[in-house]
Amino acid sequence: MYKIMTPGPTQVKENIRLARARECTNPDLDETFVEFYRETCRQISRLLHTENETFILDGEGILGLEAACASLTEPGDRVLVLDNGVYGKGFADFVSLYGGNPQLYTVDDRRPIDPQKLEHHLQKDHDYKYATLVHCDTPSGMLNDIHTLCPILKKYGILTVVDSVSAMFGEELNVEKAQIDLVCGGSQKAVSAPPGLTFVTISQEVKKVMADRKTPIASFYANLKVFEGYYEAKWFPYTMPISDIYGLREAFDNIEKDTDILNRHARIGNACRQALKGAGLKLHLASGFSNTVTVFDVPEGVKAQDILSIMREKHGIMLAGSFDNLAGQVIRIGHMGSNANVKDMTETMEGLEQTLRQLGVPLKCSLKEGFCQLVD
Ligand SMILES: *Cc1c(COP(=O)(O)O)cnc(C)c1O
Repeated sequence: MYKIMTPGPTQVKENIRLARARECTNPDLDETFVEFYRETCRQISRLLHTENETFILDGEGILGLEAACASLTEPGDRVLVLDNGVYGKGFADFVSLYGGNPQLYTVDDRRPIDPQKLEHHLQKDHDYKYATLVHCDTPSGMLNDIHTLCPILKKYGILTVVDSVSAMFGEELNVEKAQIDLVCGGSQKAVSAPPGLTFVTISQEVKKVMADRKTPIASFYANLKVFEGYYEAKWFPYTMPISDIYGLREAFDNIEKDTDILNRHARIGNACRQALKGAGLKLHLASGFSNTVTVFDVPEGVKAQDILSIMREKHGIMLAGSFDNLAGQVIRIGHMGSNANVKDMTETMEGLEQTLRQLGVPLKCSLKEGFCQLVD
């Protein structure tokens, strides 16, 4: 077994694995499960600091993004797609798939979206039904300041759709303060349950937009409307994956008890970045570093695949490369959720130091020592 230090899926704690082994009831017919499902949804809303309603859907993070676009888009709708990374740009595909007209707002992919420049753009053009934003764009580790960006969009009457799959619970996320109409999360990033579930939290405005549609939502599985009224009717649109949801609940119980979670991510993220820089490696971004994942450029003369293989085979640690335009260019260390602990990060930095030395990369100082000195 490798030590998983990837930016999702992350390590899964034993209490979560055991919760998934619990005896099952019939989740369609047993009302105690309907209660359990709703309590878990309410817990998620509470942890995201909102009264907005949450639904847990049976599918990976991608289902949440698709469900957002399927449920909100009608043919011809103009949608503002904020793009400074792979997931940012990717929203345009879902918008098109459901007949919308995505308008890309593409900016420097090494810096977070600049609120002033966005406002300047909106002054000229703000005729959009909704806007899509990514909180942490995981392939580059880009953190966008959604708490500033979303209120600007709302000022122009634009609904806000945020993918926070790889940021929430590793970075601050206050849905009420940020005025987010629809936020997507996933089970396998900082939440640290196994892959398989997504959850979506929606505002009253989203419910109204869905109710006022002139055309039906062109999907069943990616249709958020089919969940409305499930509690009163005691009826799910399809059979809920009960064991997955038992595991997810345990993961949220862990998060709720973990009062130091955001500070710990900040300490570990900062120490990791400073240690890499101190040793002479180059962080991929100019600014906007997420505390959930650190991304550095592959040093000259070395192949990403060689770093990843040696880390796995010699040190038993799994790091990630990246994809799309970043394939082969960068290495990603995922320090989110249960990966975000000093012991595993210290071993990761030690393994990485030895791996880079073995590949002949000159380091100005020890990665492990740099990390340990900075993390306390
Ligand atoms: C992981 C992730 C998702 C979900 O992707 P999956 O392929 O379903 O894991 C969505 N958005 C972001 C930013 C992610 O990091």
